[in-house]
Amino acid sequence: MKKDKRLFIFDIEGVLVEHIDEPKPYPYALNLISHLKSSGKKVALLTNIGRKSSPWVFKRLREAGFNIDYEDLFTSAKLMADIVKEEKRRCFVISEGGIIEEFALKNIEIFEDDSADTVVIGACRNLNYQTLNFAMNLLLKGAELFCVGGSLRFRGKFQNYEGEFLGERALAEALSIATGKRVNYIGKPYKEIFLMVLNRKGEKAEDSLMIGDSLESDILGAKNLGIDSVWISHGKALSKEEIKPDFVFDSLKELYEILTT
Ligand SMILES: [Mg+2]
Repeated sequence: MKKDKRLFIFDIEGVLVEHIDEPKPYPYALNLISHLKSSGKKVALLTNIGRKSSPWVFKRLREAGFNIDYEDLFTSAKLMADIVKEEKRRCFVISEGGIIEEFALKNIEIFEDDSADTVVIGACRNLNYQTLNFAMNLLLKGAELFCVGGSLRFRGKFQNYEGEFLGERALAEALSIATGKRVNYIGKPYKEIFLMVLNRKGEKAEDSLMIGDSLESDILGAKNLGIDSVWISHGKALSKEEIKPDFVFDSLKELYEILTT
């Protein structure tokens, strides 16, 4: 592995902490981030989480001991808010708290009438038919469709049920099938979010390294842009047909040792 990379892009859940709701850092996670920052490297934390706002995620990570700045954190919801601000979009939003909170913090108004020109879909476990149908009609009238994140399913706990939940991508694709509208995905593995990270951090793909535990989102996304990748396997084996990372490590320990010796 080349040690002269300048930007280290980390996935959060499954790499730095197990779960963001109760963030306990994995061994070497705190030391690795501190080491990189203090040796002049750039760090980006990139997550598809849209259920929670980026200030909430940032606060959890700081409380868990991560030496990061808010500018190091890239969440799907944060980038969606940036796009909406930049392009002055009028959004109708279907989502749980995260995106709504993110928009409110950035003074982005949400439109619940025909004047909306954009439909934004996030994970939403308390959705009703009327809302989804209203979104469909906006799309039929010409609105554009965005999806924050890109999960078909996700695990979680909600209203006394713990298990699998229908993800935001499934909702967005249902609207897309019904209307013929293309979904603009803001999240890994789609390239827009990686390009934004490179752009904001002022680095090129070849000078960057992605560290992730998901082959389908972290590693595939990095590969699509020519970013070298490290798969944190947690002891799992890579099968032949799978997406091939450049490096496979059981845990952050190996990466820490390579970068510090
Ligand atoms: Mg992960």
